[in-house]
Amino acid sequence: MFTKILIANRGEIACRVAATARRMGVRTVAVYSDADASAKHVAACDEAVHIGGSAPKDSYLQWQRILDAAKATGAQAIHPGYGFLSENEAFANACAEAGLVFIGPPASAIQAMGLKAESKRLMESAGVPLVPGYHGADQDPQMLQHEADRIGYPVLIKASAGGGGKGMRAVEKAEDFAAALASCKREAINSFGSDAVLVEKYAQRPRHIEIQVFGDTHGNCVYLFERDCSVQRRHQKVLEEAPAPGMTPELRQQMGLAAVAAARAVNYVGAGTVEFIVEQPPEGGMRFYFMEMNTRLQVEHPVTEAITGLDLVEWQLRVASGEPLPLTQEQLHIDGHAIEAR
Ligand code: ADP
Repeated sequence: MFTKILIANRGEIACRVAATARRMGVRTVAVYSDADASAKHVAACDEAVHIGGSAPKDSYLQWQRILDAAKATGAQAIHPGYGFLSENEAFANACAEAGLVFIGPPASAIQAMGLKAESKRLMESAGVPLVPGYHGADQDPQMLQHEADRIGYPVLIKASAGGGGKGMRAVEKAEDFAAALASCKREAINSFGSDAVLVEKYAQRPRHIEIQVFGDTHGNCVYLFERDCSVQRRHQKVLEEAPAPGMTPELRQQMGLAAVAAARAVNYVGAGTVEFIVEQPPEGGMRFYFMEMNTRLQVEHPVTEAITGLDLVEWQLRVASGEPLPLTQEQLHIDGHAIEAR
């Protein structure tokens, strides 16, 4: 186990990581911007290093300063939290080059799951069920319209590089497709620097159910059950609940195994979440399709901790230091029910 880690984040998640590290006897280094000099996360850590101005681009996104701070304080590993550098494969690589452990998945897994369209192509070949749609590289507007007509309306146009509920347009009928595509591409280029889109069937009465997965460097991978994040506003999560209402043991196992297959397809290590969209067809039952994989610890991880009795940050630290996963699939159980509200 590490003796000292640096936490490259602020606020709640930095305090969260520091609390587990302290309990495990691992010393912690905080980094902070001008605005955060007296923030709670600075007090929560054993040491703190000032890394720049108040805007994130002048501090928490300045990787070289963060790497220098880790070196100067003798930290062996960097926990990125969520947001900021957590899904930045270039930063994960830079840590390795600096001789530091990035407490997260391999850079190659971050990259493979970083783009919605490419990750879907990869999942298709791994046999993970996908929403019917078009995820190809050809972006000719007429061809996309043709694909939308083939899929059948309503369809959803999604920016491949999108996130946070941005860069999505639902289209009800063929006549509206061209205008929605143009507007989606404009938003995508402005927000994400790429206007590549994918088109998929817009699920009716969908539910968002995601599976927490964990892999280690010894070839083990398990699922820590589901979170239901269907209560959303503008495609952003509001309530997160575990376990999912109405989930059956059979469906839980099917979704869990599909999530593990997705993780294994990219040689995943550490904590990750495989998001599925779940359709409830009028004839009953539930059908699930891969949406995307988030290659970090998520905001809503505490509901999983509440129902499993586990500390996922502890698992992250153990896996990052080379230990095997603490438990096998058979040893994992659900006890109780938890809801988080944003
Ligand atoms: P982001 O990366 O922006 O969070 P996602 O692809 O995860 O984007 O989608 C966000 C939300 O949009 C989902 O949780 C779901 O509510 C809705 N959504 C995504 N794809 C579909 C779809 N094919 N049909 C209906 N709703 C969808």
